[in-house]
Amino acid sequence: MVMGWVTSVGSEPQKIAATIDANSAAFRVVSQKIFDFKELGQQEFKSSQLLMEELRKLGFTVSGDLKVSADLVKDGIAKTAFRAELQGKGPGPTVTIMLEYDALKNGHACGHNLIATSGLMAAAGLASAMKETPGRIVVIGTPDEERGSLGGGKDRSP
Ligand SMILES: [Zn+2]
Repeated sequence: MVMGWVTSVGSEPQKIAATIDANSAAFRVVSQKIFDFKELGQQEFKSSQLLMEELRKLGFTVSGDLKVSADLVKDGIAKTAFRAELQGKGPGPTVTIMLEYDALKNGHACGHNLIATSGLMAAAGLASAMKETPGRIVVIGTPDEERGSLGGGKDRSP
């Protein structure tokens, strides 16, 4: 079944795959950097900055220091969370990609460097097709997934 907002299937799938392939080496560098940063929950400053910088390069509008419930983090500002958005050709569905980038005490034993980079790859691929595609992509950087210091960046959302 073809959904209403799909106007055509043209060269977009090839473009998406080609974009991901072309940036493969750069994505590996991002993953390795996050792996080496091994920042614990709520302290993922370098990791979140790196991901925000990569998303800006892809044309996303990025904002950090997200306002959250005051009982979640001190002063209600999640300093290592971010939101990035890229508008497509016109109105349509929103596809949201969530990135995790915090480490455990023994480093990235859970592979959040790979989770963050996989999401970044998906965002990069989709971004390459958004000029011809209705809708928008929203990327949410979700800190502290491992409940490291202050308790869960995602599971206490309203
Ligand atoms: Zn994990």
